Formats: sequence, C-alpha cells, structure tokens
Amino acid sequence: MKTALITGVTGQDGSYLAEFLLDKGYKVYGLRRRTSTPNYENVQHIKDRIEWLSGDLTDLASLIEAVRTSQPDEVYNLAAQSYVAASWPQPLATGQMTALSVTNMLEAVRIMKPDTKFYQASSSEMFGKVVETPQKETTPFYPRSPYGVAKLYGHWITVNYRESFNMFACSGILFNHESPRRGIEFVTRKVTDAVARIKLGLQNELRMGNLDSLRDWGFAGDYVKAMWLMLQQEEPDDFVISTGEMHTVKELLEVAFSYVGLNYEDYVVIDQAFVRPAEVDLLLGDCTKAKEKLGWELEVGFKELIHMMVDADLKRILAEKKSSFI
Ligand code: GDP
Repeated sequence: MKTALITGVTGQDGSYLAEFLLDKGYKVYGLRRRTSTPNYENVQHIKDRIEWLSGDLTDLASLIEAVRTSQPDEVYNLAAQSYVAASWPQPLATGQMTALSVTNMLEAVRIMKPDTKFYQASSSEMFGKVVETPQKETTPFYPRSPYGVAKLYGHWITVNYRESFNMFACSGILFNHESPRRGIEFVTRKVTDAVARIKLGLQNELRMGNLDSLRDWGFAGDYVKAMWLMLQQEEPDDFVISTGEMHTVKELLEVAFSYVGLNYEDYVVIDQAFVRPAEVDLLLGDCTKAKEKLGWELEVGFKELIHMMVDADLKRILAEKKSSFI
C-alpha cells in the first residue's frame, strides 16, 4: 500500500485528490492547521478514511514531525493562501504561506525522507502579463500579483531542490480549475452561487469586477489526476495542465445565467471594489506535453463545468432554505 501526505487536504484540490488516492488504495495522511472552527465541508464524506496530522506550513518542526509520522511515498503540497485578490492587502502573509512554506515542506522531506516524491502546486498566475500565447512550460514568467510572485518562488525552489539534491520534485503549472467545492470568493463560484440565489429569490444583484479577462477554466476533478500522474513517471519534470480553451468572465456570466433562464445584464453591477490593482488579462494553456508524456485527458468541458456548479449551488441553497423553515 502506498502512502501519501497531502497539505491543503480540506481545500478543493486536496479533497478531490484524497478521494482519488483513497480509491487507488493509498493510505492518505492529511495535514490540518489548528483553528478554533475547523471546516471539513469538502472532506466530510471521507473524513474518517483520512489519517489526520496537525501541522502548520510556516512551522518547519511540525512538518518534520508530519513526514516522520507518515513516512510518505508521495507528498502533495497544495496548501497556500490561494486567492489572488487577497494577496495585495496581505502580501507578507501570502509570502509566508505561498512561497516560504514550500521550502519548509521541501526541507522536511529532504531531512526526514529524501526519497519521497514531491508535488508542488504551481499556478498559471506565474505567467501573469503573458509574453506568449498559449503559455507552455518554456514560456517566461511575469507574475502580476503578490500571489503570482509567491507561487513563482515556490516553483523555482522546487526545481532547485530537484537539481540540488536530486529529489523527485515536480511542479504542476495548473491553469484555473473549478468545481462545486471552489471557494466562494473565486469568480466561477461567486457567479454560480449568485445565479442560484437569484433564481431562488434570495438575491437580486451581483457585484463584479473586470468582465473582459480571459481564463482557461477546467474541472478540478480532472486536474488532480494529472498531479498523481506526474509522480508516477520515471523522471521528475514540470507540466502545464489546462484545457487549451479560454472564455471571458462575460461568457461565464452568460453560460451560468442562461442555464436557469435569466439574462445576466439584468443583475450584474460593476463595482470598482472587485477590480484589481494589476490584472492578468489572458491565460491560455498549451498542455501538449502533459497529454503526450502523462497520457492525461480532460473529461469535463467549460459549459458542463459551469452547469454542474449551478446545479450544486441550487441543490445546496434549497436544502439550506428547507432546513431553516423546519
Ligand atoms: P484568478 O485567475 O486566480 O485570479 O481567479 P479568480 O476566479 O479570482 O478571478 C478570475 C478573473 O475574474 C480575474 O481576472 C478577476 O479580475 C475577474 N473577476 C471579475 N470580477 C470578479 C469578482 O467579482 N471576483 C473575482 N474573484 N474575480 C473577478
């Protein structure tokens, strides 16, 4: 039986990855940060099958202990401050949690069990103000937010540990990936949640920022398979994971609102509070290398993804509404 240690296991990607690895027969350890009100929403259904460890990515001692206890074959480092907009008001915390924390995790592995395979969650935000389109593994980086800058550090320190210490360390450059488990502040989920609330008569407007930015949005459930595939190769390497299709935020609004028979123009209000100090105008990934070398394939397309998210939000809000009447 293989053993995996996942940081960020209660998040969107961590929960899909934990499900996927448990189905494959892995023993899955999940690192959890101590909080007074823990949130297990994404992993409620598998909570008892995960071996829980306490630790904090900014505390090397706790990570060394986590690696010592779990003796993992594979580490998936998914935990971070992952919301771009929050990285301007909290640039230093983002640097601690998204950049330096990667070195902490790599150090814990190097010190305790250097033959562990290591996956780092890198991000298309590293391409930022893109210098070529589509973006691939060889495209130069130009991050546009403290988050993007921090992820770039995490990316290069992973490459550096591979080259310095001969560790099996891979970096997955994942383009935006969404699901019903996406955090509510991200644009896809913000929109699908609002569509469901508007449809059910609980909300009558949606305040948004820049509707013209273009993103390459895929389904998180498909993307976690690519993470695993990277660690099953003979040699460690870095891969872009994307759909190769891009859509504007406006198209996202159209798809989500029209799915429930509404016109987004009747509800959306532009609010400068959601416009960012520096924007990433366009992200479009070329994942040819992942398709060829990993045999990775995409299963869920853009429309299907947004419809899935609207359906899930409708179901959840209806259930909440019902229970509040009891
Ligand atoms: P990101 O690509 O990691 O920043 O993912 P997000 O889902 O947070 O944002 C995607 C794009 O949607 C960015 O270009 C945002 O500027 C744009 N956007 C427009 N309005 C909003 C909004 O109200 N909330 C968020 N999160 N993004 C918005």
